Amino acid sequence: MLIGDIEIHPFTDGIFRASPAYFGEHARPDGHEDLFSRHGMAWLPIGCFLVRTRDRTVLVDAGMGPDLDDAGPRRFLIGGQLPLGLRALGVSPSDVTDVVCTHLHSDHCGWLFDLAASPVFPHATIWFGAGDWNHFVASEHGAMAEHIRHGLLTYRSRVRTVERDTTIAHGITLTMTPGHTPGHLCVIIASGGQRALLLGDAIVCPVQLDEPTWQSMGDVDPALARQVRERLFRELEDGVTLGAGAHFPELQFGRVLAGQGRRWFS
Ligand SMILES: [Zn+2]
Repeated sequence: MLIGDIEIHPFTDGIFRASPAYFGEHARPDGHEDLFSRHGMAWLPIGCFLVRTRDRTVLVDAGMGPDLDDAGPRRFLIGGQLPLGLRALGVSPSDVTDVVCTHLHSDHCGWLFDLAASPVFPHATIWFGAGDWNHFVASEHGAMAEHIRHGLLTYRSRVRTVERDTTIAHGITLTMTPGHTPGHLCVIIASGGQRALLLGDAIVCPVQLDEPTWQSMGDVDPALARQVRERLFRELEDGVTLGAGAHFPELQFGRVLAGQGRRWFS
């Protein structure tokens, strides 16, 4: 995937199994059998994106990591594949200049630190929203693996928290999209008149275009998350901008075809 002269490589750390109930108690699978196609569950990726500019190698979202919380055989999130995906792209962890976490849920920051709280990407600057530092790291509101919190506190000097839209490299801008978490951000890639949005979990699945009341179980502020989703869908209607979320089926980019009965097109 090429946006001007910036490369975007989607790859996955593993699998996120979502039941209809993940999208809210009222969500029904009827009419969405193609999505909930595996014994009534959707098998979605735990997505990551490697973004390469001329002088930067940026990882957007750091997967679930090597940690396995012991939810037994019905585990919903299984990661572990990120190192393999990087290697397939010819990138070693020490090549990564920046890691952007769209937010600090466990399936987006898992490879920031290993289980001994040492940095997995030894030269990388770590970026995420200031609201998520407050919510997940500095307070006990949000659940966070202890080795990740410990790593962030120990290596605080490598962390850049952002409070407003911030350009971090030529063609790469972080834009605040709170709701799913207080500091959630999306990444805008813009180059040569082309534009893409890496949506994190601001839109979990394109099905939310057809089903605007479907939330994400993880939404910290569901009403704000819904407003932000609608804003992003409008942005994806402009005929230029392409978007992909961290859990979009097969990490396929798409856009919204405007008109009566807007629909997702990928
Ligand atoms: Zn997620």
